[in-house]
Amino acid sequence: MPEQLPPTVHAPSLDLVESIVQAVEGVAAAFPRSLFLQRAREQADAAELWQALVDAGLLSIGVPEEHGGAGGGLTGSTAVMEALARVGLPPLLYSLTSFSREAILRYGTPEQVAQHVVPTMTGERKICFGVTEPEAGTNSFAIRTSARPDGDGYRINGQKVFISGADQADHILLLTRTAPAGETLSRRSGFGLFMVDLATPGITLNRLDIEWYAPENQYEVFFDDVVVPRDALIGEDGLGFDYLLACLNQERITIAAWALGLGNYALEKAVEHATVRAPFGRPIGANQAVQHPLALAKAEMEAARTVMYGAAAGYDSGHDAGDQANVAKLLGSRAALAAVEASIQTHGGSAFVYESDVVTLWPMIRILQIAPINNESVLSYIAERVLGLPRS
Ligand SMILES: Cc1cc2nc3c(=O)[nH]c(=O)nc-3n(C[C@H](O)[C@H](O)[C@H](O)COP(=O)(O)OP(=O)(O)OC[C@H]3O[C@@H](n4cnc5c(N)ncnc54)[C@H](O)[C@@H]3O)c2cc1C
Repeated sequence: MPEQLPPTVHAPSLDLVESIVQAVEGVAAAFPRSLFLQRAREQADAAELWQALVDAGLLSIGVPEEHGGAGGGLTGSTAVMEALARVGLPPLLYSLTSFSREAILRYGTPEQVAQHVVPTMTGERKICFGVTEPEAGTNSFAIRTSARPDGDGYRINGQKVFISGADQADHILLLTRTAPAGETLSRRSGFGLFMVDLATPGITLNRLDIEWYAPENQYEVFFDDVVVPRDALIGEDGLGFDYLLACLNQERITIAAWALGLGNYALEKAVEHATVRAPFGRPIGANQAVQHPLALAKAEMEAARTVMYGAAAGYDSGHDAGDQANVAKLLGSRAALAAVEASIQTHGGSAFVYESDVVTLWPMIRILQIAPINNESVLSYIAERVLGLPRS
């Protein structure tokens, strides 16, 4: 019989949360949600938001003290993501950069940590993340982008798709196959994880027209005979996929924080609207049919939040935390979607007026049911790894 999920009783320390919430208030004053939306609409970047994160010291959270960071672990970076999303400022590039630096902290050399992780704290390095390919989609085992040994380094050819922030990042954490074509791949053989400078000759970007409201755009990224040095490889040749999987729990937790922060933002807007809008002479929020979906979403988000911080605490104490991380991603993304749906319903027609900033929340929360991992795959994980059902 598989083990039960461990109890989730952990919460981040109040001091840590309070200091992060205060710092995020400063960020929101410098770069409010209205500017975030404006940049999204103009398909422009949010460089000042990134600078505000640097100035507030938020990019140092999650980097161990021994590397000059502020520490705080995954619990800290989860709290940063949640607090930013809660004021309507979820930076996708923050999630991508903190995920990528996690891979380097775990598997990189001290030189790679110094070269790639340390400069993220000052905003000098932003990292995007390249896994998805047009044909392979969810099935990363089927990727075709290849890195072949070439002199002292590797030669990369292939294509990635949906790569967020590829224009704003200076490096990409890239999953490739390193096994020759036709050779069977497995979790522990045939893949490489590379940190590639996006200014390397042979890399071209093509922006996709994605219908969502965020200052990060998505790109097709083409690699045409891109030559990278040997030290672009993170860890051992062959183990790239294994490294990726080991870091994905970190990503699941950050995504839950993103979803729950935005879900709460949507809910607060709904409560505000339901308290003042009174077409029948009393606030619509006095109707239980309006109250209950909002209350249910809140209850479900609180439950997901408890699992999320339990997962982060487990991860920080050296556990894999895979079970809780998957549950947190599933529950968090679903509860947040319910919150946005309830907020749209509460706002009536005004939800669809751009300036009300309600329907603008929907695409991002909806995408989190699919990316970075679809909830069907998360359910399969829970079915097979937690319940012990046969592999599908
Ligand atoms: C806004 C946005 C940003 C993104 N940013 C990045 C990025 O920065 N880097 C990156 O590498 N990728 C990124 N992606 C890609 C994203 O991770 C993929 O879209 C996602 O992994 C799903 O892959 P796919 O779109 O090819 O869907 P498919 O693999 O074609 O799957 C389609 C649907 O089929 C179902 N399905 C698929 N597999 C299974 C299964 N095994 N069991 C049950 N059902 C299944 C799911 O419902 C899924 O939604 C981004 C995507 C978007 C939309």
